[in-house]
This record gives sequence, C-alpha cells and structure tokens, in this order.
Amino acid sequence: MTEPADLLVVGAGPAGMAATATALAGGLRVVLADSGTTAGGQYWRHPPEPARAAIPTGDLHHGLGAYRTLTEALSTGRDRGRLDLRPAHHVWSVTREDDAFTVHAVDRRHAPEESAVTLRAPRLLVATGAYDRQLPFPGWDLPGVLTIGGLQALLKGGGVTAGRRVALGGTGPFLLPVAAGLAARGVEVVVVCEAAHPLAWLRHPGPLLRNPAKWAEGARYGAALARHGVRFRPRTAIVGAEGTDRVTSVRIASLTPGGAPRPGTGRRVDVDAVGVGWGFAPQLDLLTPLGCALTDAADGNAVVTVDDGQRTTVPGLYAAGEVCGVGGAPLALAEGRLAAASVLADGPAPPVPRGRRLAAVRATVARHRAFARAMALAHPLPAAWPAWLTDETVVCRCEEVTAGAVRAACAEDGAHDHRQVKQLTRAGMGWCQGRVCGPAVHCLAATDRAYEPAERLIATPVTLGALADLDARR
Ligand SMILES: Cc1cc2nc3c(=O)[nH]c(=O)nc-3n(C[C@H](O)[C@H](O)[C@H](O)COP(=O)(O)OP(=O)(O)OC[C@H]3O[C@@H](n4cnc5c(N)ncnc54)[C@H](O)[C@@H]3O)c2cc1C
Repeated sequence: MTEPADLLVVGAGPAGMAATATALAGGLRVVLADSGTTAGGQYWRHPPEPARAAIPTGDLHHGLGAYRTLTEALSTGRDRGRLDLRPAHHVWSVTREDDAFTVHAVDRRHAPEESAVTLRAPRLLVATGAYDRQLPFPGWDLPGVLTIGGLQALLKGGGVTAGRRVALGGTGPFLLPVAAGLAARGVEVVVVCEAAHPLAWLRHPGPLLRNPAKWAEGARYGAALARHGVRFRPRTAIVGAEGTDRVTSVRIASLTPGGAPRPGTGRRVDVDAVGVGWGFAPQLDLLTPLGCALTDAADGNAVVTVDDGQRTTVPGLYAAGEVCGVGGAPLALAEGRLAAASVLADGPAPPVPRGRRLAAVRATVARHRAFARAMALAHPLPAAWPAWLTDETVVCRCEEVTAGAVRAACAEDGAHDHRQVKQLTRAGMGWCQGRVCGPAVHCLAATDRAYEPAERLIATPVTLGALADLDARR
C-alpha cells in the first residue's frame, strides 16, 4: 500500500476480518495486523499454509462459507493495493498522539529473529479476542493438564490430540465442540464435567427461543457425544489432578449448588491428558492503557464499553468481538461489521447511510448479546471453588505463589484486590503477567467486582534487539 492507511485493525479473528472487509468495501485503506501466521483467529484457526493439505481440519470448523468470503475480500483488497495485511505481527503497545494512533509491533515472520514495526493511522479498531479463563486446583500445574482452548488450538492448528484418554472440565458450551472434536479424532473422552446444570438455561427462555441455531448446534454436539459414548456429568468438577512426571489421573466430584464438592462423591479417573476451561477472559491489553472505559459483563469480566456503533470512549478508537464481551463468532462478526460501518460514518466522506442494513446488523448484535448474557448466567463460576484448593496449591505458576500465600496476603496483610496481592506476593508478576492467575487471584481476594486485568504497558515480551531496532529508526 503506497498511501497512508485510513484504518488500522489489530486482530484478524472473525471480528477483525469482518471489519476489514466492510471497511474495504466502503473504500478505506486498511492495515490489518495479527500475531498469528494466518487470518481466522481462534474460531477459524487452521494449520500453517504449507501443512494445510496434509492436516485436514475442515470437519472441525463451522461457517467456512463466511470464512472463505472474508478471505477473498481480504485478498482482493491486497491485490488492489487497499489492504496491508501483516501476519505474525504482535502489537505490544499503542499510543494516541495528535488525533492519530501509533502502533508498535514486532514482526515475527522470520522467528526467532524479530524486528520492530511502527504503524500509524487516524483510526484504530481493536479486535484482539479473548483467552481461556482458568481456576487453579491441586495438580493443575502437572504436564498434560491443558486449557480446553489449548486442546482445541492443538487440534485445529496442527491436527494434534494431546492425549489418548482425556477428561474435560469447567463450564460453558465450549466444552462440547472440544469433546466432539477429540472424540472424532479417536480420543477416548472419558468424562466431560460441567459445573453448571443445563436446566439453568430454562431460566432464560427468551434468548434461547430467539437463537434456534444455537440450541440446534448444542443438540448436534450432544448427539456426537452420545455416538462416541462420552459421559457428560452436570454439576460435577475436576477438583484435582495426580501424577508424578505428568498427569495420570484426575479426581472428580459432584458439586453442591454453591460449587463445593459434595462429601463422599469424589472418585478417581485414569487419564493421560486433561482440558479445563471456565469461559474466557477478554484480551484488553491494548485497550486499557489508552484509557478506555470498562463495563462489568455478566460473566465476572470487565469488558470495553462501546456505544451502539462499537465506538469506545476514546475518540477514533473502536472495538469489536470478544474484547466487548464473550459471545461467540457470530456476534464477533456482526460487531466487526458494525464497527467498520461507524468508522465509515465518522470519516470525512460518510457514505449514504443504509439504515435498514445497519438496523439488521444491530438487531443481530442485540440478539447475540442477550444470548451471551443468558450463557454467562447459566454457567457462572462456582462460588465455592476456592474450597478445592489446599494452602499448598500453586495459584501463580510463573512465580510459584501458593493459595496459602494469597490467602495470607488477604487475611493478614489486608489485600483486597489482585493488584495488592501482586505487590505482596508477586502473583501475576511473571512471564504471563497475570493472564493465567489474574481471575483466580481476583476471586480469592473476595471482591464482588468484575475482574479488570492490571494495565500492562507492554502486551508481549519484546527483545532488546527489537527495541534497539526501533530506536535506530527514529
Ligand atoms: C484458545 C481458544 C480457542 C477457541 N476455539 C473456539 C472454537 O473452536 N469454536 C468456537 O466457537 N469458539 C472458540 N473460541 C471462542 C472464540 O474466541 C470466539 O468465539 C471468536 O473467535 C471470537 O472472535 P474475535 O474476532 O473476537 O477474537 P479471536 O478469534 O480470538 O481473534 C483475535 C485475534 O487477535 C489476535 N491478537 C490478539 N492480541 C494481539 C496483539 N497484541 N497483536 C496482534 N494480534 C493480536 C489473535 O492472534 C487473534 O487472531 C476459542 C477461544 C479461545 C481463546
């Protein structure tokens, strides 16, 4: 692209791809940067190009028609010199100066070498998605214990099954596609432990009835699990993992309505891999340092506040997809389209408004958000989950901080949020910067507010070489 960009999009998942395609169709010049090697995000994760033909994953995907349409729109945009697509570019910092955004990224296309890249545009759209939310339990740091998103990423991104006999646990509908995908690849999924009870959905009939495609999808997964003989256990949790060098068994227990293990219900199940997931936490790293207002979502997360056109509270900054609340790919797609329509409407030459089409996208967003809220309420974190922890259970794996140390920081030293616990214990100060332990430490600090991740000025580790490179280009 020879001319300056009108819009910079960070994140090429469903939200970022849809936003880019809409912006291109509206005549904008766009830069689209993503830390992954190919566009698609978590939902449309594929093996790297050279390996795609050898690793068929088509049966694990949904909505591939939409993916192909978006991919074609992006490649037409590139051919016409309107799109600067930047795969393997991890954005580590964003600043706003003089009504424009400066984005610092590291180009990792030739990893392990990396070089610094600086991109600028008057408008920025952040669509960086979410990551697995984890709750610790004794043994969760053993090799072979993964997140369910990690299991899914291995499967979709490399055709790899992490084990031959796998137990899954946590809460939320995402357990189902992961179990079905593993079973379809010949893995013995010995049990799926869902902490909530599916009947909790009946308290939200409106969103259920307005989204028949969702329950049809759920029914398909249910049938797939039945076909493979996978046992689905409601109101049950994986409360421990055991093994010496790696996991060899898990302890599962029935839960009381409050989430405490029911005495006498615990039993051991032999496995060689485990996947656990407690929903997702939005990836807000690039948004919080820019000063965006946040809102509490029903699932215990803080999410970025947007208006009905996906505008954040910072002028020129838009957000779409799971940074605005966890709700699945169809919601992310609709929010991406809506955000790009707002960028076009707010620009110097707004297009003729297409009121009906925009109203339809807004209605789609509202319908999916109502479903997402119902999902969050039907699959809460079990209030009594800290009862699974012993004082020796490691909570922050990077800094090896135990539950006992976190509890002491709260009870004896008066810490009442994860930032204070971090200052007192180093929990959240390591390599992952609290992405893994942050939500758990937040719950242990017994706060009733939504989890707001600590502000990180650098969103990914950057080598000194790349920083020096940046300095040399000034
Ligand atoms: C590990 C994992 C696996 C999942 N698998 C499925 C699944 O199989 N089926 C399903 O229905 N839902 C799945 N989900 C939920 C899924 O994320 C959403 O429904 C959907 O993909 C959300 O779209 P999005 O565009 O908001 O975000 P995403 O699809 O997550 O896309 C965000 C993109 O932003 C990029 N990014 C993030 N930070 C940066 C940065 N600093 N610099 C540059 N790029 C960045 C990421 O590489 C990613 O490509 C998964 C979620 C996770 C976390």
